[in-house]
Amino acid sequence: MISIRIQQLSKRFGSVVALQGLDLTIEPGELFFLLGPSGCGKTTLLRSLAGFYIPEEGRILFGDEDVTKLPPHKRNTGMMFQSYALWPHMSVAENVAFGLQERKVSKEEIRRRVGDALASVRMDAYAERRPNQLSGGQQQRVALARALVIRPRCLLLDEPLSNLDAKLRLEMRAEIRRVCKEFKLTTVYVTHDQKEALSISDRMAILEEGRILQVGSPREVYRRPCRKTVANFIGETDFIAGTVRSFQADRAVVETSIGLFEGILGDPAARPAVGSAVTLSIRPECWTLEGAAKPVNSIRGRIGDAVYLGEVAQYDFVSNGTTLKIYELNPRHIGQGAAGELQANVAVEDVVVLAG
Ligand code: ATP
Repeated sequence: MISIRIQQLSKRFGSVVALQGLDLTIEPGELFFLLGPSGCGKTTLLRSLAGFYIPEEGRILFGDEDVTKLPPHKRNTGMMFQSYALWPHMSVAENVAFGLQERKVSKEEIRRRVGDALASVRMDAYAERRPNQLSGGQQQRVALARALVIRPRCLLLDEPLSNLDAKLRLEMRAEIRRVCKEFKLTTVYVTHDQKEALSISDRMAILEEGRILQVGSPREVYRRPCRKTVANFIGETDFIAGTVRSFQADRAVVETSIGLFEGILGDPAARPAVGSAVTLSIRPECWTLEGAAKPVNSIRGRIGDAVYLGEVAQYDFVSNGTTLKIYELNPRHIGQGAAGELQANVAVEDVVVLAG
């Protein structure tokens, strides 16, 4: 297992700055996700790790080895990309063996290692098939076996599941996590799918314009986004504009047009001044529609439009002219739009106070 250390990495394409002095350490054996809006630099960072791009500034270390200028074939990384590009004229076993033949591994060892790699992705029964005789998920497994068979130092995955249907994606994402953990592989995974990242990552980085906005576990990033862009990018949220009135220890008391709120700071290192404008971020599932009115974190309103989805209902909750999303599990209040006003309450730790 190796760590991957990225230090002050910058990469430009002509006048476009794709990565700007980026610092990041990925721990040995970690399944680490890169997320962010289109064009934020995810693929550029992954390709720099693979050696396809040489950065203008900064360093990349695999363990203690500086690999910044090392060509791709000397980095010993396993790669799996969106188009998994298996050779159509070769069998599954030949596809997996290809990387080992190039490395001049003996025939006997190739046979053993290909068998092990296919078994690890549960494809050993398909060794003699051609790729066009496999389902999309099976082809994906073969691509994973091909990446693993060379015993890479780390695994680099770029949207590996984007060609699969929803059911297969679910199955394969669990499979990828299982294999990464079994092989104790430090893995960097690029995706647009936040559910994929939330469900299987150890930690993730959210990028914007070639910089890292936040690094943390799925729970940290989801529950305590440090900025509006992060809160908006991961999951759903409502933003409510307000003004800081005071602090209760680490908690800010914020006045808004729909009432007084007390919440935690998204970025504890940057405490806003009393009197400054802030934005509250509250996830729709954090509200409860039962209970009495309270002096803080409690709003009155009525349900407007509602969408019933069985286990959950999604309401537009209108309070003093402001519409918020409120999701109710095991919905009891669906169809109560005309039934008058309701109280909606939210816990202090579910109110995140963000700059601006
Ligand atoms: P997406 O989610 O759309 O795949 P991304 O986060 O992976 O985006 P990158 O592909 O890393 O983004 O691109 C970062 C920036 O660098 C973008 O502005 C992009 O247009 C630019 N860029 C990337 N590759 C090249 C290239 N080969 N030549 C010129 N500009 C490039």
